[in-house]
Order: sequence, then structure tokens, then C-alpha cells
Amino acid sequence: MCVLGLGLIGGSLMRAAAGAGREVFGYNRSIESVTAAKFDGFDATENLDAALRRAADSNALIVLAVPVPALPQLLDHIRDAAPQCPLTDVTSVKGAVLSAVQQVGLLQNFVGGHPMAGTAHSGWSAGDAALFTGAPWVVSVDDHVDAHVWALVTQLALDCHAVVVPARSDEHDAAAAAISHLPHLFAESLAAIAGEVPLAFALAAGSFRDGTRVAATAPDLVRAMCEANADQLLPALEQGIELLTRAKQTLAATGSVADLVETGHAARMRYDSFSRPEIITTVVGTDNWRAELAAAGRAGGVIRSALPVLGNQG
Ligand code: NAD
Repeated sequence: MCVLGLGLIGGSLMRAAAGAGREVFGYNRSIESVTAAKFDGFDATENLDAALRRAADSNALIVLAVPVPALPQLLDHIRDAAPQCPLTDVTSVKGAVLSAVQQVGLLQNFVGGHPMAGTAHSGWSAGDAALFTGAPWVVSVDDHVDAHVWALVTQLALDCHAVVVPARSDEHDAAAAAISHLPHLFAESLAAIAGEVPLAFALAAGSFRDGTRVAATAPDLVRAMCEANADQLLPALEQGIELLTRAKQTLAATGSVADLVETGHAARMRYDSFSRPEIITTVVGTDNWRAELAAAGRAGGVIRSALPVLGNQG
């Protein structure tokens, strides 16, 4: 497989895939990261065309591991040099990537992915082979998705010790707005508010650290994912503002924040007891397989070992 972008996620993927015994090579635009990856014993180059020629020659699975704004340029190169290769990505938004891939005519071999794991750090040196262990990894089941490419991408996630959550791109983006992109904006707000209060940083402990952890992420990355998911983030933001506005009104009028606190607490308890049944019965490639997997993923189901694929033996 060929990883394009050897930062936190691409670098972790390269380490995890190599650790699983896969042949993996990668490209990074900065020579520093390439040198660091080579020093750590990995096969890396800063020559994109050479990496893509090699991918085309070996029909490698290409993984896009760069921020959204860098995608169009890379996709143009892939279309010119390795259009037949199976293609996936790790991007935190799925709808915008799907459109970009469609625009360059590479949809046929593309299956979107998103490992739900990360840290607030960036670059090759932040990578960790164990980053994806036990993490949900979304593999998209959009209408166009090819069964064999889907199985390849799913196997990659399983080799990295993740659990696969099948989901449609639009549903992924609505969920990601609620559990990732909105929390990023709230974390930035919490940090900014505390930054204005004398003594706040001196007293800050667990609540502040947990609530603002993701505000330490590189601003460019946060902007890239939030802005690329504006369609889904706007209604989530609206709902957040509405809940806080109502809490402000009841606090001012009655001295109580009970509604918000009880609603939030009940939802968090539901999350703590959320079950994750294993998806085992779907045969990939049969009638309705994508809808079946999307429904199972929506209900909390995860794939822990490869599903049978129609037409494959074994
Ligand atoms: P990173 O900053 O650690 O790495 C980004 C990589 O992209 C670097 O190798 C950089 O050289 C390369 N890059 C940036 N612009 C480029 C350009 N114009 N051309 C070529 N290469 C370019 O970031 P990351 O956290 O690894 O993020 C990579 C992708 O993973 C993003 O799409 C992000 O949404 C997604 N992701 C991030 C997290 C997280 O927690 N950080 C989690 C899941 C998915």
C-alpha cells in the first residue's frame, strides 16, 4: 500500500500496517519527515510521481492522509499517474472528499475511510503504531462503493487493530459534527473564556484539561475539518447555542440549569451503556449489502473480522 502524507495519521498507519506484515511505502512533501521515516526504517520518498508510478505498477491501495485543502492537488496527480489503483482516505469529513474524488473521476475505485483516533500532535514524530488499536474506523458504504475495494479498505483497518463501523458519508458527517467538530468549537470557546479570567489558569484542573484538550490541535487542521463540514456543523452549532441560550434564560429567570444538566447527564449515561454488537451475517456484494451494513452501523454494530465477499473463495 502507498500512504500519501506521513503526518500523525499517515505515519501511524504506515507503522501499524508494516507491523501487521503489509508491504507499505509512502510519500511526504517535506524532506524532514521523509528523512525521519527512513531513519526509523520505513520506505518513504518526497517524490510524489515516483511513489504513484510504483503504486500503479503494483496496484497498491493508495491512502490519502493529508488535510482536506491538499486533496485536489494530490487527486489530480493520482488521476494522471495511478487512476486504476484502489483508493481510500483517512479524512475527518467524508462528503467533501467524496465530491473532490468524484470531480476528478476517481469514484469507481474509491471507498472513504476515517479512523476515529488521534492526538493533538502533528507530524511523523507524533505517529504511533498502536494509535488505532480498538478505535472505530468508519468505512463508507455509499451507493457507488465497490465490494472488492470495500473489503480491501476494511482489511486495512482490521490489520491496524481497529473495529470497522460501516456508514454512509452523509451520516458520518452529521455524527462527526456532533461528536468531533462541535466539541472542537466548544473546546476553543472554553479555552478562550478561561483565558480572559484572572486566576483561571492557576486553578485549572481536570474539567478544564478534559474540556479543552482538543483546543491544543493545530488550528489549520481544526479549521480544515470544521469548514469542510459546514453543512452538518451549522445545524449542530445552532442546536448547541439554543441549548445554552435556554439554560441561560432559565438560570436568569428561575436560578436553575436543571433541564440542560439532566438532559446531558441522561445522554452521557446512554453513551456509557451503548452496546457494540458484532456484524457477522452480511455477505459483501450481495443485494442490498451497503444498506444492510449502513443500518447495522447506525445501530452500533461493528466489524471485528473480515466479512465474506460474494465471488471470493473461503
Ligand atoms: P499532520 O499535520 O500530522 O499530517 C498532515 C500531512 O499532510 C503531513 O505529512 C503534511 O506534510 C501533509 N500535507 C499537508 N499539506 C500538504 C500538501 N499541500 N501537499 C502534500 N502534503 C501535504 O495531520 P494529521 O493529523 O495526520 O491529519 C491528516 C488527515 O487525517 C487529515 O485529513 C485529518 O482530517 C485526518 N485525521 C486527523 C485526526 C487527528 O486527530 N489529527 C484523526 C483522524 C483523521
